[in-house]
Amino acid sequence: MKEILPRQIESLMNILGTIPGIGAKTAERISFHIITSKDNMVQKLIDVLYDIKENIKICSECGMISDTDPCHICLSPERNREILCVVEKPTDVITIEKTGEYNGLYHVLWGVISPLEGIGPSDINISKLIERIRNLGIKEVFFALDPDSEGETTMAFIASKLRDIEGLNITTIARGIPLGGNIEYSDMYTLSRAIRFRTRLNDNL
Ligand SMILES: [Zn+2]
Repeated sequence: MKEILPRQIESLMNILGTIPGIGAKTAERISFHIITSKDNMVQKLIDVLYDIKENIKICSECGMISDTDPCHICLSPERNREILCVVEKPTDVITIEKTGEYNGLYHVLWGVISPLEGIGPSDINISKLIERIRNLGIKEVFFALDPDSEGETTMAFIASKLRDIEGLNITTIARGIPLGGNIEYSDMYTLSRAIRFRTRLNDNL
């Protein structure tokens, strides 16, 4: 099948096929949809991807994806600047924002510590996090990491670096998210409860 395809279409299918959740068959369907669309989709995609390439950056404060640096959340005077929510990836920020339960700052780690995969503390955005907590006068660090062993290891490591900060509350997402679950795929009700009933971590680490 592939031999009869022009290499340009094959390249597009190969790129789409690397996206998590998109298999070869779906990649083929999307590719043909784009190419045969009467809506000038090829040019629209070129324009939007170029705009993303030129204008989307990573906030040098919190690590979130944004079109400004610092990002809108870091700059907002309406956010509670005494609480900082630590997440694994940018999509977790979006998921938590949608609950409307949280109005503090964020910090995106871009991963979690995973000895099995050879990911150590220096491979993710931890040193900037420690620096921010100290410099911003944060009163509560709220971990919203997936409740699995990597999440636990990451929390324990970061908490160990914060022990000397007097009066700092360390909390974690609580009821509702099942062990081994995933923040991104939680329903809004479950995640809202988990944020509202977050628990204090200081005593357990
Ligand atoms: Zn930011």
